[in-house]
Amino acid sequence: MSDHVLVINAGSSSLKYSVVDARTGEAAAAGLVERIGEGEGRHVHRGPAGETETTRSILTHEDALRAAIDTFDKHGPSLADLDLRAVGHRVVHGGSRFSASAPIDDALLAEVTGLVPLAPLHNPANLEGIRVARRLFPDLPQVAVFDTAFHQTLPPHAYTYAVPLTWLEDHGVRRYGFHGTSHAFVSHETARLLGRDPAETNVIVLHLGNGCSASAVLGGRSVETSMGLTPLEGLVMGTRSGDVDPAIPAYLARELGMSVDEIDRALNSASGLKGLAGENDFRELSRLRARGDEHASLAFDVYCHRIRKYVGAYYAVLGTVHAVVFTAGVGEHSAEVRAASLAGLERLGIAIDSNRNNAAFSGAHRISTDAGEVAVFVVPTNEEWQIARETLGVVRHGSGA
Ligand code: ADP
Repeated sequence: MSDHVLVINAGSSSLKYSVVDARTGEAAAAGLVERIGEGEGRHVHRGPAGETETTRSILTHEDALRAAIDTFDKHGPSLADLDLRAVGHRVVHGGSRFSASAPIDDALLAEVTGLVPLAPLHNPANLEGIRVARRLFPDLPQVAVFDTAFHQTLPPHAYTYAVPLTWLEDHGVRRYGFHGTSHAFVSHETARLLGRDPAETNVIVLHLGNGCSASAVLGGRSVETSMGLTPLEGLVMGTRSGDVDPAIPAYLARELGMSVDEIDRALNSASGLKGLAGENDFRELSRLRARGDEHASLAFDVYCHRIRKYVGAYYAVLGTVHAVVFTAGVGEHSAEVRAASLAGLERLGIAIDSNRNNAAFSGAHRISTDAGEVAVFVVPTNEEWQIARETLGVVRHGSGA
């Protein structure tokens, strides 16, 4: 029997899919349909025959998934041969309700719908992906894998904001944390690389992609993380500010007459690297910095300084740290970010070997010196594999892996 899982990540105007062997992590095929509902949709599919790109009218998420199924038929691999076991859906917000992946039924859909106010941009799109996949794959079990679930182990003193308690009790205002599948995958992988039992390994994970988040993982359980009620808090990101003084929105409203929506948009979409240097793509930012662009240089410094602050804070939270690990687009590829963020921390047992850090490599790699007490790793994240594994775990055992 196969262990293939169809993994779906539905965004507001995109649908990402892959078929992953939950046992080995191997992707038999993967694709992305973009610009859903914008007239001409763009569809890229990677399979055994290489990459195909098509443009056609894609008005809905159902059109997008049908386009994907067509492409499997035309360009392979055949879905029948893959013998899918289940469909695993990435769902951004599981609130306090979901601390593990869960089988999808009507009751779950109602609960995830109830969480829409916490993730108004993401959960509706995730729900649409689920509805469509249930229609098109009615015979397959479907599982929801939540971005927030891994962080449900945060203790109350870490997830509680010091605001009127009724905000928490009546409105769910608390830290939830995101990128949970990545933090779970990478921290587990790090323990494996160290040859240690995850239950006895403490790791600081730095997920640096378009969105960025840090987590402190104590004995395999997340005990602190930088994103909060929403994915806006914490590290500096491509277009998001991360931490700011919470009085800033009130100041902007009073002084500039900005509306709540304008401030929300500015902090989410026009801040971070983009706000400081006009560029949110890290590769482009690095090019600008190398050419002496002052704004790019400042943005880089602010970005790395924030990472360093979180490493220090999470070191204190964990007490003993076995490893610091970098992952996602920037974390995996930018040696200069890794070096700048951790420079001068030898007294904490953190020392990067510059040859190892700058070496070209793919796959997981240790970049700390042999003498450093704390191992520093680069570990490519694999959220699809984590979703596939958890999905199969739910199908086999009826609850989250
Ligand atoms: P997402 O959060 O959307 O999954 P990724 O993890 O793919 O994003 O990260 C995207 C970011 O990684 C972009 O800012 C991109 O510029 C950056 N990135 C990708 N490759 C490199 C590279 N070789 N050097 C520096 N940054 C890179």
